[in-house]
Amino acid sequence: MINIAQQLKRLISTPKKIVITTHRGPDGDAMGSSLGLFHLLKQLGHTVNVITPNKYANFLHWLPGNKEVIIYEGNETASDEITAESDLIFLLDFSDLSRIAPFNNAVKKSKATKIMIDHHQDPDRDIAKLIFSDTKACSTAQLVYELIDAMRMTTYLNKSIAECLYVGIMTDTGSFKYSSTTAKTHNIIAELITAGAENDKIHDLIYDNSSANRIKLLGYCLNKKLRLYPENNAAIISLTAEELKQFKFKKGDTEGLVNYALSIEGINFATFIAEKDGMVKLSLRSKGNLKVNEIAGKYFSGGGHINASGGVSQVSVDETIKITEEIIKNLNN
Ligand code: 5GP
Ligand code: MN
Repeated sequence: MINIAQQLKRLISTPKKIVITTHRGPDGDAMGSSLGLFHLLKQLGHTVNVITPNKYANFLHWLPGNKEVIIYEGNETASDEITAESDLIFLLDFSDLSRIAPFNNAVKKSKATKIMIDHHQDPDRDIAKLIFSDTKACSTAQLVYELIDAMRMTTYLNKSIAECLYVGIMTDTGSFKYSSTTAKTHNIIAELITAGAENDKIHDLIYDNSSANRIKLLGYCLNKKLRLYPENNAAIISLTAEELKQFKFKKGDTEGLVNYALSIEGINFATFIAEKDGMVKLSLRSKGNLKVNEIAGKYFSGGGHINASGGVSQVSVDETIKITEEIIKNLNN
């Protein structure tokens, strides 16, 4: 850690052209850690661009620096040029280049020094020169804070950095409730509040800022689309593209939905299946020792964390439900 911090401090000691990128379907931790680092590096006099593979949820658009984010899809040529000319590329909140497709080719080709900061399992150690990976860490945002601290740069913490990192930690810990939340996490949160993060405002902007359609969609899912398998302690919620259209779906509207299924008494495995952008996407969640990253990897070309993973299915929503039901049947065997 100290060694990594020293190497990183050396790398950023002179003005550089820097790209920060994060995984597809960026979530609160992806954007919070990327923009938190962005605000630090800008203060140090670097030229910094955050490039995300695709769009992200509206509830993250208030984050300081949001307007400067480049979305790769639709800005391919400019993004490729910036990436080719960069000196440093930060890879945040992912551990495998396939997670940033279709931006992965430009990153792979670039001669820039690559730095991975991440908390996912089994990092691909060939994709970056400098790797700060801690699979026990609650969030990449916490790791960004730890690096700032280890580089003795906490004097640069300002309101923008604090808000971004707070969002990353808050969203990836389910508001500080998952087992990955430690005393250290709370100490960091205290420092972020001291640096200007307004906790009540941030919770409100992220969690209490839904469109009416989003809440109606939630009601529909819980009332009509919840399948329970009590004998296997499992649940599935699914949505077709047609259903999403009915509720005027916007990116982010289904975020967290799977947790309602997991919050039911006795349920320790929950799956959310949705047909989006011509694909069938899955979110898998569990409680305890059930490793959903292994299920995601084995059946759905995906991965993630032990209790929170995702993947894709090549067949219809109905077929995907059947596959998931088979997985559920074998869970307790
Ligand atoms: P979510 O269900 O919220 O989309 O994702 C939960 C976790 O699984 C996140 O840590 C995310 O990085 C990971 N994840 C989601 N989708 C995929 C995927 O298609 N492939 C891999 N490898 N990980 C995924
Ligand atoms: Mn994360």
